[in-house]
Amino acid sequence: MIYLDNNATTQVAPEVVDAMQPYLTELYGNPSSAHAFGRRMRSAVEAARSQVAELLGAVDASEIVFTSCGSESDNWAIGGFLEQHPVRRHIITTKVEHEAVRNLCQHLAEIGCEVTWLEVDRNGELDLDDLRKALRRETGIVSVMLANNETGVLFPIEEIGRIVRENSDAVFHVDGVQAVGKIPVNLREWPVDLFSLSGHKFQAPKGVGALYIRRGVKLPPFIIGGGQENGRRSGTEAVPNIVALGRACKLAREFFGHEQIRALRDHLEDQILNTFPQSHLNGVADRTKRLPNTSNISFEGLDGPTILAKLDQAGICVSTGSACNAESRETSGVLRAMKVPYDLARGAIRFSLGRYNTKEDVDHTLEVLAEVLNHLENS
Ligand code: PLP
Repeated sequence: MIYLDNNATTQVAPEVVDAMQPYLTELYGNPSSAHAFGRRMRSAVEAARSQVAELLGAVDASEIVFTSCGSESDNWAIGGFLEQHPVRRHIITTKVEHEAVRNLCQHLAEIGCEVTWLEVDRNGELDLDDLRKALRRETGIVSVMLANNETGVLFPIEEIGRIVRENSDAVFHVDGVQAVGKIPVNLREWPVDLFSLSGHKFQAPKGVGALYIRRGVKLPPFIIGGGQENGRRSGTEAVPNIVALGRACKLAREFFGHEQIRALRDHLEDQILNTFPQSHLNGVADRTKRLPNTSNISFEGLDGPTILAKLDQAGICVSTGSACNAESRETSGVLRAMKVPYDLARGAIRFSLGRYNTKEDVDHTLEVLAEVLNHLENS
């Protein structure tokens, strides 16, 4: 199998499996217990918190709260803020957020919040003047992703944060789920109040994420109960997963293969765009403005799900967009927001590379893709 769907999820790294394994077997204590066994669990959880804080460049480990996934972190950040400030019901977000933000904001609009949806252009980029114009005194929260999961397009979060700070009292939430582990993050320097991440996108298992809450920013608890996570999210801590997330953060900090992933992605993208005349890149052409691992390419006149199925038969895993809408035949909301014409949008394939991909993977994919496209065009 060749796995080019790393934006959907990633392989748990062997180093991460090794780190969490004892916590699935002999180290089964509860971090809240008063005995030495419990204290050992507590220190493992706190060590992991520091590892997450270091990767994000947070000032203090207490700014990190463990959650179950990226969607939970997003829901808590936005929903929690509105619960805390019921009169500041104006939300600003973009039309290309992940469903965890987009569908939540849609729901909030239905129950009485006012949502401003920022448009993107054909490259998937924002016009920051639209943001300036949308901000006002009663704006409560601005939620913008760092990296788009479908196209890899990066939003200029530092600049957006500065605009939010200069023009409003709004809290700034960033969905960093696709960016963490792939590009540097520095929350010490960035004007960001809340930041979501998810372990399974960067070599930790599914079922663990985190929300960064800048010191001084108040959010009501996400789960009320025994007071774990400093009263912010109750429920006995998922120690094996938390240890795994911490180890994955350390692994990400020590990873020096980013340039190799970028080179493989560039090779794949160049070869496709130069070889197949029906191919068109979705997202800004300037690669410094995209994640180094992602290429979203439309094959004009062809059907993305059919290409996906043919590649799948050959053992190659790709996606037609976000993993969440792979079942539906509807074109991607992100590509629709970018005004990609239907005939292109329906033929979109996302290739997302990861740390275990090789040049052979990419070359084999290119060979199979040539056969698939040839077959589909002549059938
Ligand atoms: N935000 C973005 C940008 C994502 O890509 C995803 C998952 O694809 C999520 C949020 C949701 O993360 P999780 O799958 O951990 O709930």
